[in-house]
Amino acid sequence: MTSPRIYWFRRDLRLSESRALAAAATGPVVPLFIIDNRLASPSGPNRARWVAESLHALNRDLDNGLVVRSGEPAAVLKELAAETGATEMYATSDFGPYGRQRDNAVRRAVAEAGLVLHFLDTPYIVAPGTVMNKTGTPFKVFTPFRKVWEEHLDLDLAPRVALDVMTAASTAEIDDLVAISRRSWPALFEGIDPVDATLPVAGEAEAHRLLSAFREHVDLYAEQRNNPGLEGTSRLSPHLKVGSIHPRSIVAATAGVGAGSAHFVSEIGWREFYADVMFHHPDSVREVFQNSTRNLEVDRDEAARERFRRWAVGETGYPMVDAGMRQLLAEGWMHNRVRMVCASFLVKHLHLDWRWGARWFMWHLIDGDVASNQHGWQWTAGTGTDAAPYHRVFNPTLQAERFDPDGEYIAKYIPELRTQPAKLRTAPGGGDGLFAAPGYVAPMIDAGVERDEALRRFAVARGVESA
Ligand SMILES: Cc1cc2nc3c(=O)[nH]c(=O)nc-3n(C[C@H](O)[C@H](O)[C@H](O)COP(=O)(O)OP(=O)(O)OC[C@H]3O[C@@H](n4cnc5c(N)ncnc54)[C@H](O)[C@@H]3O)c2cc1C
Repeated sequence: MTSPRIYWFRRDLRLSESRALAAAATGPVVPLFIIDNRLASPSGPNRARWVAESLHALNRDLDNGLVVRSGEPAAVLKELAAETGATEMYATSDFGPYGRQRDNAVRRAVAEAGLVLHFLDTPYIVAPGTVMNKTGTPFKVFTPFRKVWEEHLDLDLAPRVALDVMTAASTAEIDDLVAISRRSWPALFEGIDPVDATLPVAGEAEAHRLLSAFREHVDLYAEQRNNPGLEGTSRLSPHLKVGSIHPRSIVAATAGVGAGSAHFVSEIGWREFYADVMFHHPDSVREVFQNSTRNLEVDRDEAARERFRRWAVGETGYPMVDAGMRQLLAEGWMHNRVRMVCASFLVKHLHLDWRWGARWFMWHLIDGDVASNQHGWQWTAGTGTDAAPYHRVFNPTLQAERFDPDGEYIAKYIPELRTQPAKLRTAPGGGDGLFAAPGYVAPMIDAGVERDEALRRFAVARGVESA
């Protein structure tokens, strides 16, 4: 009889289109998930719940065969190998700074016990570190990266494997993940009450249902993707986060099927670009990417903390910003256009450190992904890749008028503005004087004045750099 192999699930909570699982499945497979405190603690309960829901769905697909254990991964793998007689283990490669370090250490540790741990494939179509420019160096700008990335696309889908599941006792519960994450409310958020979001449906079947539904209107993507009041985007980011679908499946299903598909595929390319940048520059998740803005002056005093609090709970008096921040609290997700507006507001109107905002997003987003989040923030702050012009300041009112002209999105998340005429919903404070919106807050700052202040600070920072 073939000896079993352990399959270690991580960011690939699915059974189809998994090259690593297919490689393991030539014999009986012991499916394992390890609760790793190092990852569970900084997650935030929304994402921990999302991972837990995704694991419950996977477990159902495995006829309740998923083995759940908690502890240091090498110790758990060695213990399970001894119990089941497995000598080989498989997993999909991880490319996060912590994941890479952990995987190298675990591979060495199990090898000392005579066990082989194979890492195959990645959560990306093209493995981070693969795409290089003609001089053999990594790209720092998206468009040239995307052109070479497209040449590397391998969209061969693996047939779904029939798994011969061999189970073993679980010594931890899936929901332990959630309990761990609830214990660590960050000090930065002191004075703000935690809120549990209502989450969407998790699991591989739901990811494929979303993909099929999106495929039907991908031709409208370019036109509708910026309008948060329409369901113009795929909503697949939370599934990509936990790997209940692989991006290969997404691109294979959507490439070339409609007018918007090239644009859509290039958005998937952004996810892969940021993973590539993080692979080459792991420090960029914490440090500014462009040296010229390293000395930007940000506020950190008590008044700054209070501005952060009002931003976080959606009480700035700028309806587009508040709707976005309240969507984040309500759903653990926010529309991309609104993420940019909210991030820009924190950095350029409130003069706060982008890392504060990135921390709040990472804590609450169910799709929270360190590469896309930190670089999305840096891009908006004007400190990141692509030399996004630092002097570009999103005007929160004009953005609302342009992308939510009837204030539908705003009214959905700000009940105080539902009875206001559509035109006023996008205005600061949702209207003033005779037209003031009962119960809604007045604008906390003058956006024009603070925009000028931001430009002054950027000019100083850049001057300091070149001195
Ligand atoms: C400040 C900020 C923070 C962000 N944080 C995250 C994050 O933590 N996790 C995350 O997945 N995305 C993040 N994004 C990118 C983007 O907002 C989301 O990927 C997108 O809103 C997800 O919705 P969707 O699946 O409907 O997107 P769609 O428009 O349907 O796009 C399909 C997929 O392409 C990828 N994608 C699209 N736009 C981007 C982008 N700008 N950058 C990277 N990937 C992209 C995502 O994987 C997305 O699921 C952030 C953007 C900003 C500006």
